[in-house]
Amino acid sequence: MQIGAHGLVFTGEFDEAGLRRAVEGTARAGFDLIEIPLMDPDGFDSALAGRMIADAGLAVSASLGLTAATDLTSEDAAVVAAGERMLEQCLDHVAAMGGDVLCGVIYSAMQKYLTPPTTKGVAASQAVIARLAASAAERGIRLSLEVVNRYESNVFNTSRGALAYLDGVGDDRVSVHLDTYHMNIEESDLFQPVLDAGPRLGYVHIGESHRGYLGTGSVAFGDFFRALDRIGYDGPVVFESFSSAVVSAQLSNTLGIWRNLWEDSDDLAAHANRFIRDAQRAVQTIEMH
Ligand code: MN
Repeated sequence: MQIGAHGLVFTGEFDEAGLRRAVEGTARAGFDLIEIPLMDPDGFDSALAGRMIADAGLAVSASLGLTAATDLTSEDAAVVAAGERMLEQCLDHVAAMGGDVLCGVIYSAMQKYLTPPTTKGVAASQAVIARLAASAAERGIRLSLEVVNRYESNVFNTSRGALAYLDGVGDDRVSVHLDTYHMNIEESDLFQPVLDAGPRLGYVHIGESHRGYLGTGSVAFGDFFRALDRIGYDGPVVFESFSSAVVSAQLSNTLGIWRNLWEDSDDLAAHANRFIRDAQRAVQTIEMH
């Protein structure tokens, strides 16, 4: 299992200086992997990022949320095509960095919708994801679709909703990406949805209910880590936290990061690394009970 940190724990800018802060901070905190947000693929130097990440001895993954201009569920075929082109560009970046997974809200825009998705829109999204899964596989990359709360997508908001959507994609290489922050809002509990996903769970975000320090909110991490152990989950587990102390032009406003929950990225990250590893070590003893 790879324990990782989202780059935005350390920086809102992914130019050379920002990348250095994020890569050095992730390694210093003790993580195995860094997740790079690809909200601005045009301006991203993936060759440079790949070298810096390899030099630090880290693994890498990448994520993004689409926007209204690249929404795969749009009724406008030109918008769907723009989304597919952007995601292909992101796959190029993942390959250039030496990564093997692209995750996040890559099946719709990451925004509050004012209406449900249309049947045509969901079908268009599923068709693009199926093509991208094949294209990604040629480069040794897999796709994992993040389940987010109702204010950030209208396509699915639960583990079971994601599984139903994936049944329509029809490609076993595409997996479910669960995030405890979103699960805490939408799911009945934090145990059963992990069991429901089972082997189709491919990526995990660990976030607190207010996106701050782990253990200071209402997320039932004990249930969640027990469930990961129960299904033998062996994929990435990535800490995600946002504060107004670190601002991303593309992400902070979309995610509603209006207040300051922490100021010291290094302390936050080191604490999260310990929290996640301690939780996993503890649940591994359950088989002795
Ligand atoms: Mn997330």
